[in-house]
Amino acid sequence: MGKQLDTLLKEARTFEPPPAFKRRAHVKSKAAYRDAQRRLDYWAKHARTLEWYKPWKKVLDWKPPHAKWFVGGKLNASVNCLDRHVATATRNKAALLWEGEPGDRRVFTYWELHREVNRFASALKSLGVKRGDRVAIYLPMIPEAAIAMLACARIGAPHSVVFGGFSSEALRDRINDAQAKALITADIGYRRGQRVQLKKNVDGALEKTPSIEHVIVVQRDGKPAPETRMKAGRDHWYHDVMADAATYCKPAIMDAEDTLYILYTSGTTGKPKGIVHTTGGYMTQAVATTKLVFDLKDDDVYWCMADVGWVTGHTYVVYGPLALGATVVMYEGAPDWPEKNRTWDIVERYGVTVFYTAPTAIRAFMKWGAEYPKGHDLSTLRLLGTVGEPINPEAWMWYHRYIGNKRCPIVDTWWQTETGGIMLTPLPGVTKTKPGSATVPFPGVEADLVDSDGQSVKVGGGFLVLTSPWPGMLRTIYGDDQRFKDQYWSRYPGVYFTGDGAKRDKDGYFWVLGRVDDVLNVAGHRIGTMEVESALVAHPAVAEAAVVGRPHDVKGEVVVAFAILRAGHDPSDALLAELKEHVVRKIGAIARPADVFFTADLPKTRSGKIMRRLLRDIATGRALGDVTTLADPSVVASLKQRYEETEE
Ligand code: ATP
Ligand code: MG
Repeated sequence: MGKQLDTLLKEARTFEPPPAFKRRAHVKSKAAYRDAQRRLDYWAKHARTLEWYKPWKKVLDWKPPHAKWFVGGKLNASVNCLDRHVATATRNKAALLWEGEPGDRRVFTYWELHREVNRFASALKSLGVKRGDRVAIYLPMIPEAAIAMLACARIGAPHSVVFGGFSSEALRDRINDAQAKALITADIGYRRGQRVQLKKNVDGALEKTPSIEHVIVVQRDGKPAPETRMKAGRDHWYHDVMADAATYCKPAIMDAEDTLYILYTSGTTGKPKGIVHTTGGYMTQAVATTKLVFDLKDDDVYWCMADVGWVTGHTYVVYGPLALGATVVMYEGAPDWPEKNRTWDIVERYGVTVFYTAPTAIRAFMKWGAEYPKGHDLSTLRLLGTVGEPINPEAWMWYHRYIGNKRCPIVDTWWQTETGGIMLTPLPGVTKTKPGSATVPFPGVEADLVDSDGQSVKVGGGFLVLTSPWPGMLRTIYGDDQRFKDQYWSRYPGVYFTGDGAKRDKDGYFWVLGRVDDVLNVAGHRIGTMEVESALVAHPAVAEAAVVGRPHDVKGEVVVAFAILRAGHDPSDALLAELKEHVVRKIGAIARPADVFFTADLPKTRSGKIMRRLLRDIATGRALGDVTTLADPSVVASLKQRYEETEE
C-alpha cells in the first residue's frame, strides 16, 4: 500500500488523555480491557445495568451465524429509557433539548417524555397496531421521531425508520420490504430553509404499499401545512389521535431476542438491506458503549449530530443516552443553517459537553477557514467523537485544536449499522489516540485482520473481521436470511466479514481504510481510495476529495479524483498539475491521478458518505445506478454532464 499511510503509521503522534479528563473518566485504567477477557461475564455485567422483568438463563447461544443473547431474559426498551428514570429524581431532568431549523425550541423532561410516549403508544394500540406489527417512521429530526420510536418499542411493534430525506421510491421500497402496517410522518420538515414535502412524498409512495393501513401525520408547525392532503379513513393527525389517548400504556414484556427494530443500510454498496436488531443484546451494547465511550455522567449535555434515520441516531441519540438518563440535544437542521455558526451557537447555548459528529461535517467546518469557530465559547466541551468514515489526520488535528482546544480527547468510533453499536474505539481517559486510527476493539469485542486465506495479519493490511459474536450484532437481514449468510458469513466460516479493509500497526492499532471494494488496483499495486483522498485534502487548496478507479487496458485501473476546492482557490491547469505532483510526492508515482476533476459538490448519501459507486459510473461513462439514496440527486446529473464536457 501507499507510502503516506506507512509513514503515518510509523510517525503518528500519540495523544495521551489529558490528566484533568482522566481524573473524571468513568474508566480509569487498562483493567477495563483485562476484565473484558472474561467476555460473556463482562457483557452480562453491562446487561445487569438494565432493568429486566425476568433474568436470562444463558448469556449466549451461538450457532454460527445465528446468535441469541441473554436467552430467556425479558425486558422492554422504552421502560429502560423512561420508566426507570421517572421513578427517580431524573424525572425532572431534561431528556431532550430540541431545536428546530427555523429556531423554535422545545424541552422535554423525562417525566414529559414518558407521558408523550405512553400517550402515543396508547394511540397506536387504539388504531390496531399490535405487538410484532412493523411501523414505518418517516419524520424530520423533531421530538416526535424519538417519541414514535419509543412508543413502538413500548408496544413491541418493531419500527423501521426511513430517513426523512429519502424519496418516495426509497420510502415505498422500504415499506414494502418490511410490510409495514402503519406509517408515522409529518406534513413538512425543514432543511436549509426548504420545506421538505414529507406528506407529499408519502402520498406518492403509498400508491403502491398495500400493507399500510394507517398514516399518522405530525403538524410540524402546530398548524396544517397548506399543501397537505389527508385521505379519509387512512390518514390521521397526530394531535387528534393523541387527544384522548391514555397517559399510561402497559409495556409489552419482550423477549431479549424479540425484534426491536429494522433499519435499512444506506445502500452505498447496493440494494439496501433490512438489518434486524433485537432487544436485550442491542440495549446492552448501547448502554455499555454510551457509558464508557462517551463517559456520560449526570451533568453532561450530550449532542450527537446524527439523524434518527441512521443507526447512529438510533443507538446514540435515542436508546443509549436515554437508557442512561442523559440530557440529549436534538437539532433539526443542517449544521451551518441558517447561520454558518449554528452548530457552535447550539454548543454554547446549551453548554454541550460531549459532541459526536462525522468527518464530513468536520471537513465542511474546516472549509470556512482554520479558526472558524472563533468568537464562540466552546469551553464546556470535554469530549469529542467522530464516526462514519475514516477521518483524515488533518481533520482530526483541526477538530482537536479548534473545537477541542487541545484538551478534549477524541473518540474515533468504528462501527456499522450491522454491529448495532461501537466496535473499535479508544476509551477516553485510558486509550492513547492516534489521529486517523479508530484504535482498538471496545472491551468484549474481538476483531482481527486477515488476508484472503483467513490468516491473521499481525502488522500490515488486510480485511477487518469480527471473530466472535457481540450482543448488538444484527440477527439477520429482514426476510432474507440467505443474504445474511452470504453477505457476512460465507467468506470466512464462523467469522463476521465487515467488508472493510484496514491496517494494523505495531501497537495493534487498527486503521480502517474503507470498504474493500474501494481499493484500487493500479498496475498490480493496491491503493486505498482513502489514502489518495487523504493526500489530496492535505493540500491547502483542497477541501474535500473523492477518488475512484477507471478501468485501463494496461494498468488495470487508473486513479480519477474529484476535488472540492477551499474558499479562495480556483480551478486552473497549474493547480491540476500541482495536485497530481502533490499525490506523487505523498504516495508515489503509482498513485498519480490520471484525472483531477474540480467540482463544487460530491454525490453523498444523506448520512454524508460519498457514493463512489456513482463517481465510478461517471468516470467510466456508464449509465448511472440507483440515485434515490442521495442527499441531492441533481448533483450527479450535473457532475456527469460537466465531466463529459471536459472529456471532449
Ligand atoms: P451500505 O452497507 O449499505 O453500503 P454503509 O456501510 O455506508 O452502507 P453504515 O452501516 O452506516 O452504512 O456505515 C458503516 C461503514 O462506515 C463502515 O463499514 C465503515 O466503512 C465506515 N465507518 C464508520 N465509522 C468509521 C470510522 N470511525 N472509521 C472508518 N470508517 C468508518
Ligand atoms: Mg456497510
